[in-house]
Amino acid sequence: MFSFDNSYARLPQTFHRPARPAAARAPQLIRFNHALAEELGLDVEGASDARLAQVLSGQVIPVGAEPLAQAYAGHQFGHFNPQLGDGRALLLGEVIDRDGKRRDIQLKGSGPTAFSRNGDGMAALGPVLREYIVSEAFAALGVPSTRALAAVATGEQVVRETMMPGAVLTRVAASHIRVGTFQFFAAQGDEQAVQTLADHVIDRHYPEARHAENPYLAMLTMVAERQARLIARWLSIGFIHGVMNTDNMAISGETIDFGPCAFLDEYDPRKVFSSIDQRGRYAYANQPGIGQWNIARLAECLLPLLDADEEKAIEAANGVLKAFGDVFQEAWLMQFKAKLGVTGEAEDDRQLVSDFLELMHQGEADFTLTFRSLSEVAGGAAVETLLDHFMVSPPGLADWLTRWSARTSDSRTPAERQAQMEAVNPALIARNHRIEEAIAAAVYGDFSFFHRLVEALANPYVEDPATADLRVPPTPEQRVTRTFCGT
Ligand code: AMP
Ligand code: MG
Repeated sequence: MFSFDNSYARLPQTFHRPARPAAARAPQLIRFNHALAEELGLDVEGASDARLAQVLSGQVIPVGAEPLAQAYAGHQFGHFNPQLGDGRALLLGEVIDRDGKRRDIQLKGSGPTAFSRNGDGMAALGPVLREYIVSEAFAALGVPSTRALAAVATGEQVVRETMMPGAVLTRVAASHIRVGTFQFFAAQGDEQAVQTLADHVIDRHYPEARHAENPYLAMLTMVAERQARLIARWLSIGFIHGVMNTDNMAISGETIDFGPCAFLDEYDPRKVFSSIDQRGRYAYANQPGIGQWNIARLAECLLPLLDADEEKAIEAANGVLKAFGDVFQEAWLMQFKAKLGVTGEAEDDRQLVSDFLELMHQGEADFTLTFRSLSEVAGGAAVETLLDHFMVSPPGLADWLTRWSARTSDSRTPAERQAQMEAVNPALIARNHRIEEAIAAAVYGDFSFFHRLVEALANPYVEDPATADLRVPPTPEQRVTRTFCGT
């Protein structure tokens, strides 16, 4: 089924521990991502659902797999934990996809490992479906992300606040190397391991860095830039990751760990959903600052590789942190200008964007539908279309619309302008209340809404009449105010 080539398993023993999937009584395939399987070049022709469920719940170890749990550390809500690691996941192995890119195949929720601490190593059905839905929605939106190859129900019960059905997610990632992986070795003072990991990362994700004057500085810079661009993308779709600990930040620049994440309904820059984020550390608008903080932690690990002279190393690292800020600002402006249909450059573009966001905040405007209907207004629709998505109509909106019209009137036809805006302003996002609805039905054995939601989210930029109900914001009764960790 897989043609494995396991580069991580070939790294020194301190990088990983052998792992063995737990037995599952009655594995049943919930969903298999055939399009992704094809992209990965997997051979699943003739494989029955039962066979896929056996393999993708870890009951049958495919030929060539070398199941292992990766070691890592991490800052969790600002506090350093020197030993985390894959506590409920294992890396089956790596495959080379059809584009020649190396991808990890990981089972998440497959039982305890050497790093489970007090955890049971299992995943409940809800978080598995949530990750499946949101990571695949990200792929369709064009935002870098880990992917979901399959969800399998194990037939086992897991103990959470109540008993829940257990499940395993097959996660696909460019790699599962995190900021916390570097921290694991740096905290032990193992400079050789940090260098080995950095070399692995350069070969795997940043081969261009090899030719730079200082490959490690080049790598750090590229990691920072990808992360800055990624977070700008999150903000542009109203996404809150929820748990941006350094162990949940992938070195590859993919979004990873869809735990208590959520999309905004009404715009509020201070919005937090995660039940464990009591101080709002990971609120919507804090994400770029936290991203930069996490990159600073990575830079600390790499200091000995940046320069033999510590002062010079620190100076280089500070340069990277500044670059993070600059790249983020530039990417953010580019994203939001595109959302407004603004092309070219003008002095007060940044002001135009932030004034609109401020009006949306005041007016408790639905983030997604406001930008979508602004696209229609650009195409000639009445302003009322836009006002429908504001709870209250803020004074100043009319003036802003006049400024915006003036700024966006150019040689494009209204229809062209609308089409360009609609191509970057999704109509459909994975709204929280819909995710919860899909999970609630699935817990009782009905997966039909889960499938419908996943399929609808594959076309986020299209207003399909068949998915109109999924685009509607929650009613006050449907509103989800808290999301929970993936445990
Ligand atoms: P996360 O919140 O998913 O980023 O996980 C943080 C850390 O806790 C990671 O080291 C996980 O492997 C570990 N962890 C989370 N849930 C469990 C569980 N049920 N059993 C064992 N380890 C877990
Ligand atoms: Mg994690």
